[in-house]
Amino acid sequence: MLKMEFDFIVIGAGPIGSYLARLLASDGFRVAIFDRKKEVGKDVLCSGIIGSEPYREFNLPEEAIISRISDGSLFSPSMIQFYYSHDLPFAYIADREKLDKILYRRAVEKGVEAFLGSLVIDLEKEEGRVCIEYLNNGYVKKISARCLIIATGADFALHRKAGLVAPKRFLWGSRVEFDCKLDGPLEIYILNNPDLGSFGWVIPLENKVRIGALSVDHDRSAIHRLIQKTNGRFRFSDYKIEGAPIAYGDSKKMVSERVIAVGEAAGQVKTTTGGGIHYGLIGARFAYNVLKKTALEDDFSEDRLLEYERLWRIKMGQEIKSGMALRNLVAKIPSKTVDIIFNWARKDPAIEEKIKKQFCFDYHKNLVDFGMELILGRNTLRRSKFSLLPF
Ligand SMILES: Cc1cc2nc3c(=O)[nH]c(=O)nc-3n(C[C@H](O)[C@H](O)[C@H](O)COP(=O)(O)OP(=O)(O)OC[C@H]3O[C@@H](n4cnc5c(N)ncnc54)[C@H](O)[C@@H]3O)c2cc1C
Repeated sequence: MLKMEFDFIVIGAGPIGSYLARLLASDGFRVAIFDRKKEVGKDVLCSGIIGSEPYREFNLPEEAIISRISDGSLFSPSMIQFYYSHDLPFAYIADREKLDKILYRRAVEKGVEAFLGSLVIDLEKEEGRVCIEYLNNGYVKKISARCLIIATGADFALHRKAGLVAPKRFLWGSRVEFDCKLDGPLEIYILNNPDLGSFGWVIPLENKVRIGALSVDHDRSAIHRLIQKTNGRFRFSDYKIEGAPIAYGDSKKMVSERVIAVGEAAGQVKTTTGGGIHYGLIGARFAYNVLKKTALEDDFSEDRLLEYERLWRIKMGQEIKSGMALRNLVAKIPSKTVDIIFNWARKDPAIEEKIKKQFCFDYHKNLVDFGMELILGRNTLRRSKFSLLPF
């Protein structure tokens, strides 16, 4: 018979799994963390953009910051520019590999037991515990805990077996990095037809440039069009593009008896930008607050764990929905309408002022609401009483 060895098993040593594992271990719980990778943080696909406020709030490591962003240019489909600047940095660019490694090391220092190079392939719920099967060095092994935390990112292979529901829709994130000296602010491009609803970014780093794109419906070619747009300026020809799916919309079921999902595994990702680190950390904190109570009560029933899912939806539900509503709308409007809005914003100080006031790097609902009012023609700042849209 299997001995119950742990209070919690965390599958996935990404930033969210490591963060939650550390919190639980700090309270004296016996925690194990599993990752299929032998080296944490290796080959992570991410642009590393994280808001400066959550960076401080979640005590993320200063050593992983590569650059600080306090201004940016937003370009419309036909390259009308809207420039934004702030007194203090509103976002940081992190070295993702370093960030993941430091968060993992912090967890291990608190006593989390690590199983790297271990792919979890199956799970089974038994009386009073949950048992996982994993593959390590060609051997299949088993281990069990009172509760299982699935933090597997955009890998949902275990969800069905665990009684969870994976997010239904995905965006496609791609990026390329190359050597180049570029001074200037962060650049964001709203891409035009046929990429409606897609956008791209150019991040100048010390001696490198990082270009990325977030496209709809697994359209993998948006980044090529973005590169064409910027190619004249950067003069590079040989580049390797990497891409991966990004969960779009949170999971409809994040908990079942003795199991919870956190981070991207629960779809805790910004629906506007595809950024998953900040929202995943918020999810991990809710999970921690609930799990430490349920562990002491020894109650890991689905009903009890649902408190975590409720807390998430109360705090983040509207953000997730409003980002999706904006994407739906932007996907319908012609590029020239976006250009018109850019021209208003540039020429009308009242609109520009309001946009700057509503801008928040981390929570987008207010700006999204204002943008929707503007697009739908309901805003009091609009000169015309007619909407730009035929509905
Ligand atoms: C191109 C691109 C750019 C992005 N840029 C940004 C950005 O700038 N800012 C931002 O906030 N977000 C960005 N994201 C999203 C961000 O990378 C993810 O949301 C974030 O990594 C989620 O963290 P996580 O800990 O939930 O999962 P992950 O970081 O994906 O970690 C999951 C871990 O689980 C392991 N794993 C999976 N299945 C198993 C298994 N069965 N057994 C054992 N181990 C397993 C994996 O090996 C992995 O290490 C980007 C994504 C892409 C694709």
